[in-house]
Amino acid sequence: MDSLAPAIVTLPQAGPLQAINEEAIGIKGFLETSFVDWPGKVASVLFLSGCNFRCPFCHNHSLVENPDGHEDIPLPYIMARLADLEGWVDGVCISGGEPRLAVKLDTNGSRPRLMQSLVEQGLVDCVAMDIKAPLDEMSYAAAAGVAVDLDAIQQSISLLKQGKIEYYFRTTVVPALHKGEDLLHIAHHLSGSSSLTLFSPADPLDQRLKGTSPYPEEWLQEMQERIASILHQ
Ligand code: SF4
Repeated sequence: MDSLAPAIVTLPQAGPLQAINEEAIGIKGFLETSFVDWPGKVASVLFLSGCNFRCPFCHNHSLVENPDGHEDIPLPYIMARLADLEGWVDGVCISGGEPRLAVKLDTNGSRPRLMQSLVEQGLVDCVAMDIKAPLDEMSYAAAAGVAVDLDAIQQSISLLKQGKIEYYFRTTVVPALHKGEDLLHIAHHLSGSSSLTLFSPADPLDQRLKGTSPYPEEWLQEMQERIASILHQ
């Protein structure tokens, strides 16, 4: 997962911000401007609460495990700030936005039908999907912290690879969970995709990971280059 945006799966059913409001999904965080959450764009980022995964490296675990410990940010306040930011930001990351703003969703890919619905209705412009591990049950469950329906993950991958909208795959890399061969395996699985970006975790959910060192930046860079060559073979 990337350095700021959570892979929230409680995506709105329809109508971006309005849907969030109607479904009483708490908006727990609002980052007005980010230069890293949507490559090439300046984005505002909404942080929603709740997730059906429990990735050991999750750095949004407070929102995942203790959403009631964070106050909801009123939607009118966010809408007013987005209006003020018009012209400064290109889009809103996760969900919602003014009709004139683009919308990017960050997701763990476990709800392909919802993703498909959002894409077909034109409610999203970009999707960033986490690929937690090679697509075998043991690896994925270890990296997601729960058993995962891999058919759903595969459906989401296939949907995005159709290329109807801009998309990114990304993997948070943890030495305890991922070996280099795992990353290459993922890359082969995603062959033909536009990109797979690697990240090191920050402030992980699992306390046992807090004391462990991430892979060196040079190693990640080398893996990134090998992955790029596999994706574009
Ligand atoms: S890292 Fe895992 S647990 Fe955390 S928000 Fe993303 S999918 Fe959910």
